[in-house]
Amino acid sequence: MRLSNYFLPVLKETPAEATIASHQYMLRAGMIRQSGAGIYSWLPLGLKVLRKIEAIVREELERAGAVELLMPTIQQAELWQESGRYEDYGKEMLRITDRHDREMLFGPTNEEMITDIFRSYVRSYKQLPLNLYHIQWKFRDEIRPRFGVMRGREFLMKDAYSFDADEESARKAYQKMFCAYLNTFDRLGLTAIPMKADTGPIGGDLSHEFIILADTGESAVFCDSALLDLPVPGPDFDFDGNLETELEKRTQYYAATEEMHDEAAFQEVPEERRLSARGIEVGHIFYFGDKYSKPMNAMVMDQNGKSVPVQMGSYGIGVSRLVGGIIEACHDDKGIIWPKSVAPFGVGIVGMKDKTGDVSKACEKAYETLTAAGLDPLYDDRDERPGVKFSTMELIGLPYMLVIGPKGLEKGIVELKDRATGEAVELSLDDALNKLT
Ligand code: ATP
Ligand code: MG
Ligand code: MG
Ligand code: MG
Repeated sequence: MRLSNYFLPVLKETPAEATIASHQYMLRAGMIRQSGAGIYSWLPLGLKVLRKIEAIVREELERAGAVELLMPTIQQAELWQESGRYEDYGKEMLRITDRHDREMLFGPTNEEMITDIFRSYVRSYKQLPLNLYHIQWKFRDEIRPRFGVMRGREFLMKDAYSFDADEESARKAYQKMFCAYLNTFDRLGLTAIPMKADTGPIGGDLSHEFIILADTGESAVFCDSALLDLPVPGPDFDFDGNLETELEKRTQYYAATEEMHDEAAFQEVPEERRLSARGIEVGHIFYFGDKYSKPMNAMVMDQNGKSVPVQMGSYGIGVSRLVGGIIEACHDDKGIIWPKSVAPFGVGIVGMKDKTGDVSKACEKAYETLTAAGLDPLYDDRDERPGVKFSTMELIGLPYMLVIGPKGLEKGIVELKDRATGEAVELSLDDALNKLT
């Protein structure tokens, strides 16, 4: 992409309404534009990152056997009346009436709708296990939308739903998602810690929130710092193999959010490993058995020919919240430092002014070579001062910046700068291009 053809409305000043780094940088880097409280347009740069996160989430879920579909944002009240949640959900649900006076709502989550889809088609244990997911906008009328996309009212969520004929296989489905989440967050450049979460009135031990540590996080969390260093299952993990051990590796250590915190148990963690911090909830997984299948009559025939309510779990990831979450975890005082996996462009090319045209020729060559190699470069070809170009690149946080100037070119060198380490090396243009590709 040539910056002269792009839409990157960078702001010089930090907007007063933004109090945390991710919100400030997302506004300043022209990633989002607020259109109402907790409602945002995703500008081109922000959308690129959002789509990259989505793609990683999708890949890791499919690796674990989940199947994608797409449900609408607008739902009918009837399904929620069936489950009993229409009243219970309260003011966070945005309720709408259509021209025929039918009660509708903007979906805050999709348990009811997926249960309805399931019961319409599936009758037998032979069609199970099944895990269906979508990545769709949700609306929750949050009492205090804040921190930009971190607590929006309209936000993008990945929500998956598992269906099994019995509890044992439902537990497996849960464990698969647990492992898939570890891999997903790792690929996003994050250390996410699964923490015991409240299962509410259903009880049981099967709910975990995935938390990334950040001073600006809204939850108080307590855990054993050993959890920070555990390796994730990784790309070769066998989802049909032993899932239990992978879970136990983590659940043997203390980790809980404020609501589930048990101070006495926490005191048993060796003092030097006792970590009490702030965290951001980026994912939440839940096994809830027949909570929806029973009232909604989603029954399957089990192996003994008996009709039983299907066992379900649900698994959410805050895709749009993650954009902010990653920035909270990866930035400095100059701007964002994107992990390579989600960087909006692979490398920035900055050309200094020159009289001979040699610099733009070299930039063009770099642009073509890097584009052909699939690095998706962003070429700042604007007629701007170098200082402006540098600070733009630092703000938007691409992993590398290739700087080409007339003086260097005379000596046959360009500069390649690493955004994360700040390290700059001088080398020939060909060597720089080789290094990148
Ligand atoms: P929170 O405790 O932050 O309000 P939640 O527990 O209500 O979140 P869940 O119902 O567990 O949220 O939804 C799954 C995921 O969706 C959350 O883990 C979070 O990452 C994301 N999410 C929830 N609410 C919002 C929001 N208002 N803005 C952005 N992302 C959200
Ligand atoms: Mg909430
Ligand atoms: Mg929560
Ligand atoms: Mg939650």
